[in-house]
Amino acid sequence: MTTTSPKLTHQSSIQAVFDAQRRHAPQMALTTAKERLERIGRIHRWIQEHEADLLQAMRADFRKPAAEALLGDLGALYYEIRHTNKHLARWMKPHRVPTPLPLLGTSSYVRYEPKGNVLVIAPWNYPFGLCIKPLVAAISTGNVVMLKPSEMTPNTTRTIKRMVEELFPPEEVAVFEGDAAVATQLLDLPFNHIFFTGSPAVGKIVMAAAAKHLTSVTLELGGKSPVIVDETANIKAAAEQVAWGKYFNNGQTCIAPDYLLVHESVKEPFLRAFRESVQRMYNPNGQSADQSESYCRIVNKNHFGRVRRLIEDAVQKGANVTLGGQLNEADNFIAPTVLEGVTDQMAVMQEEIFGPVLPVVPYQTADEALRVINSREKPLALYIQSGSRRNIDYIMQRTSAGDTVVNDLFWQFGHMDLPFGGVNNSGIGKSNGFFGFQELSNMRGVIKRDFGTARFIYPPYTNQIEKL
Ligand code: NAD
Repeated sequence: MTTTSPKLTHQSSIQAVFDAQRRHAPQMALTTAKERLERIGRIHRWIQEHEADLLQAMRADFRKPAAEALLGDLGALYYEIRHTNKHLARWMKPHRVPTPLPLLGTSSYVRYEPKGNVLVIAPWNYPFGLCIKPLVAAISTGNVVMLKPSEMTPNTTRTIKRMVEELFPPEEVAVFEGDAAVATQLLDLPFNHIFFTGSPAVGKIVMAAAAKHLTSVTLELGGKSPVIVDETANIKAAAEQVAWGKYFNNGQTCIAPDYLLVHESVKEPFLRAFRESVQRMYNPNGQSADQSESYCRIVNKNHFGRVRRLIEDAVQKGANVTLGGQLNEADNFIAPTVLEGVTDQMAVMQEEIFGPVLPVVPYQTADEALRVINSREKPLALYIQSGSRRNIDYIMQRTSAGDTVVNDLFWQFGHMDLPFGGVNNSGIGKSNGFFGFQELSNMRGVIKRDFGTARFIYPPYTNQIEKL
């Protein structure tokens, strides 16, 4: 009697899919740029054909406005796909490097080879983009991939699963739905690389699990990203940008300005312009922001409670709510809120806010502002609003951050020629364009001798070795 192994499907167990992917990985490694781009093209077409479904899913998950899903989830993803289409063939070619004199007769190059089995764990705040963008990078590098989208956005996660099942056999790409328990099962496996996007706390769990197999990791994390508005800033433009960046996706953006450092001399005009911007964006006809179709919601009750506690703790310890503060638990609604009079003793100045609350910290000298920034973990983003090159340089030289944008916000995520990512607590490793390609590849150094030998290094030794 012969036994046949059960056919692998998208419903097979985590272990069965992992084993099948491991067996399939060498075949994926042989794919050409054209074959990888054909796979990425499938994803691109599917998204375009199902864009309405996707926007609807994200709206159902947390009232994400279509424009914010288009900008935040799909925009950067489309940039990544277009950029990869244009450059992949060149990225995949061996990168020649110069030959040092003692190696005369050789040629050397860097060969980008796939890591192999890749695990992508994604968050809920940009539930589609932050799951599929790493998938595109992983496919472009010839890897096989297991995806674990967030359990907090079930409609989007189901759409991701549907897409992957329609487009890929499970030995190439597979999706596993579920919460931390499923992620824990996945993390037990000896992946070659893990691309994790989420909180620093879970990032540490992921890194500890990866250490068991010496799996390499990319950790795209978060934290408290400051925005500095100095005395030379264009107040109206700065206020508008900060209002947009703070309340976009209801403040649930890893690169959102978390707190504001504003020079004492421009604090009042800035806050006036800020209030006017918020009014224009979310209350143009005098109604409350909860009537605005452009205002997203907190993702769920847990996070609503967390942000509410941050406001309550601050108020109890002496902060003033000088804008917003209205809450509606039934709808996970928190109005665009500004807190003044905050101190380091308040949780709102210690934890990542990840909600529509802006604490204001006035400062008198640049060094004072730098002390606030440098007494915290290195941020994912540091934003500077300033008209003074001297001030900008002064701040840049005395801080460290994943990325910095001067006189604007957010564009670091959509700029494919810049490395996107954090530093230490805000992240390890970079993505976007070639940086993502590099991250998901093993850079193999290759030296090939074309003629001659360095025979003088063999015994019996002579003093020629000293000339090396
Ligand atoms: P999270 O860390 O709670 O969850 C992220 C993913 O990890 C989810 O898929 C979740 O199921 C999984 N997970 C949760 N607990 C786990 C555990 N114990 N073991 C293994 N996996 C586990 O993050 P979140 O709430 O989804 O997202 C918000 C955080 O992500 C914020 O800190 C934000 O700054 C950060 N973030 C960073 C980026 C970036 O690009 N750097 C982008 C978006 C969000």
